[in-house]
Amino acid sequence: RSARGNYHDVMRIGIMGGTFDPIHNGHLVAASEVAWVYDLDKVIFVPTGRPVFKLDRNVTNAEDRYLMTVIATASNPNFVVSRVDIDRPGVTYTIDTLRDMRTLYPDAELFFITGADVIPQLMRWKDAEEMWGIAHFVGVSRPGYEVNLHKAGVPLRSVDVIEIPALAISSTDVRRRAEAGEPVWYLVPDGVVQYISKHGLYRRPPASKEG
Ligand code: ATP
Ligand code: MG
Repeated sequence: RSARGNYHDVMRIGIMGGTFDPIHNGHLVAASEVAWVYDLDKVIFVPTGRPVFKLDRNVTNAEDRYLMTVIATASNPNFVVSRVDIDRPGVTYTIDTLRDMRTLYPDAELFFITGADVIPQLMRWKDAEEMWGIAHFVGVSRPGYEVNLHKAGVPLRSVDVIEIPALAISSTDVRRRAEAGEPVWYLVPDGVVQYISKHGLYRRPPASKEG
């Protein structure tokens, strides 16, 4: 059953790509809102392998990011998590994610979900022309980022923008808080708070001993 309780002849599937380092409530609200507005049958969260735009920083290992994504989405019957990107060797490009999804779901209508901060970059993504042919793109509002589709130069037929409840949460801020020992409760789901603490994620590396 879809987000609005319907049965569709053609499956309507959202794809929520991200580093999810860690997954937070901004990601979950984005997926939930797009699922509702587009009456999706499911949203597939796809944690990236090696994210191409984050090669300059240490990203938490893929298994931890995958498990946190599973924990965060487990209670929603319309949310699932895919390993396609973390199991594919090398750097993650969204075009590969989309090709894999098309192969897995040859007849579905695919909707790729992104935040407003990502829209200006889309035209520079690998094989952008092919992306528009595989999925419809849905940009969601994000505090601090204005969307201008004309300026972004994206094909207006292929990209929509919708307003969602504003959550000024980023993984960067959650990591910074965890490192500083500040609370992350209610920014990420409870299970993710506990996973971070249980596995000591985002802790400052111990100062190296001198001498
Ligand atoms: P980082 O700070 O490490 O980049 P992030 O919070 O931006 O993390 P990502 O994993 O980079 O999270 O984002 C995955 C997707 O979710 C992107 O399309 C991003 O724009 C979107 N997104 C992230 N946070 C929000 C938010 N608070 N509101 C709306 N969209 C969001
Ligand atoms: Mg980001």
